[in-house]
Amino acid sequence: MTKPILVVGAGPAGLAAAHSLASVGQKVILVEKEDTLGGAPILSGYAKLVPSGEWAKDAIGSMVDRVVKNKLITVHKGMTVNKYTGNSGAFKAELSSGKSVSVGATILCTGFTHFDSVNKPEWGFGTYPDVVTTTQVEQMISSGKGVRRMSNGEKPKRVAILLCVGSRDRQIGREWCSKICCSVSANLAIEIREELPDCHVYIYYMDIRTFGLYEEVYWQSQEEHKVKYIKARIAEVTSDGDKIIVKGEDTLVKRPITIPFDLVVHAIGMDPNVDNMLISSIFGVDLHHWGFLKQENMYGTAGASSRAGVFVAGSSTGPETIDDSIAQGNAAAMSALASVSKIAAE
Ligand SMILES: Cc1cc2nc3c(=O)[nH]c(=O)nc-3n(C[C@H](O)[C@H](O)[C@H](O)COP(=O)(O)OP(=O)(O)OC[C@H]3O[C@@H](n4cnc5c(N)ncnc54)[C@H](O)[C@@H]3O)c2cc1C
Ligand code: SF4
Repeated sequence: MTKPILVVGAGPAGLAAAHSLASVGQKVILVEKEDTLGGAPILSGYAKLVPSGEWAKDAIGSMVDRVVKNKLITVHKGMTVNKYTGNSGAFKAELSSGKSVSVGATILCTGFTHFDSVNKPEWGFGTYPDVVTTTQVEQMISSGKGVRRMSNGEKPKRVAILLCVGSRDRQIGREWCSKICCSVSANLAIEIREELPDCHVYIYYMDIRTFGLYEEVYWQSQEEHKVKYIKARIAEVTSDGDKIIVKGEDTLVKRPITIPFDLVVHAIGMDPNVDNMLISSIFGVDLHHWGFLKQENMYGTAGASSRAGVFVAGSSTGPETIDDSIAQGNAAAMSALASVSKIAAE
């Protein structure tokens, strides 16, 4: 009989890992620091997901349901792991409640932190109420309130979505592409146009990275929903007291452009979890030099970290989509299971 496997974090990756393990009869202890399960799509109130078009609360909600109903999975909400000792096959984890659990392996699915747009002050967030983030627009849509100006509650007539906010930006120490924000922005632009057919939506971009099947939403946004794309370098975002003014250079025609908008949306990127230094020291795993949890032996053992018996999955390891986070959670579950089964057989 093998010991339970600990899964830390109940976002898409952790929920997938816990479910996979339980579906082959393996006991799981799932520890989530928030009081609600589901990770970023639920905690941040995402609207319709790309590429499936399903509402986040339904798609991820069903992942939560099957985990909480599974008798092989013990869920600890509102809790963290404070201390972690032992070796592969025989670890001891001390929870923030003071309870200790013995586990054979651990999968860290502790996710990411949304980029805080106040770190890009020249683009107006925190100064002008009508400069918001993609997560705020997701919440406007998913709450049913609809997309409105923050300053006066009016329906916007012109919206700009600025891509790569907090990504691909060496000046603020964020070199990585956050992978999902081009697709999320094209999808949000469609949702805005569906709700407000008279509203003009512009997307300011450096490059469009709607990889793989996500490219569909890029074409749909232009051809069916008349979203306009501007290849530009943005200089600054200011206000005339009512409108938000986006100033920059159209890099295709090499001319300065200044356009007033009612609402400007930052397509925020995916930062490493702000707690990663602490997570790394508690679990004794290395970090990638950009601050995400480091994967080792990438082509040998799925989800291996620098410590035997501790695995990593999902956006804790770098910007990831939901479907890839789920796939990584499932793959790490297989590796964790193999590690405890091998020890049990020895
Ligand atoms: C605005 C926006 C929209 C997006 N929309 C889409 C989309 O439509 N489609 C798509 O494929 N992707 C989308 N994404 C990406 C998506 O959010 C991620 O792919 C997904 O959330 C990753 O899942 P995860 O389980 O790895 O991490 P998370 O969702 O971040 O979950 C991690 C969980 O771990 C918990 N946790 C963290 N630290 C600890 C700790 N120390 N102890 C215990 N628990 C802890 C957290 O509370 C959280 O519940 C979007 C991203 C953004 C920024
Ligand atoms: S996915 Fe698009 S918006 Fe996001 S960082 Fe990459 S290029 Fe920029």
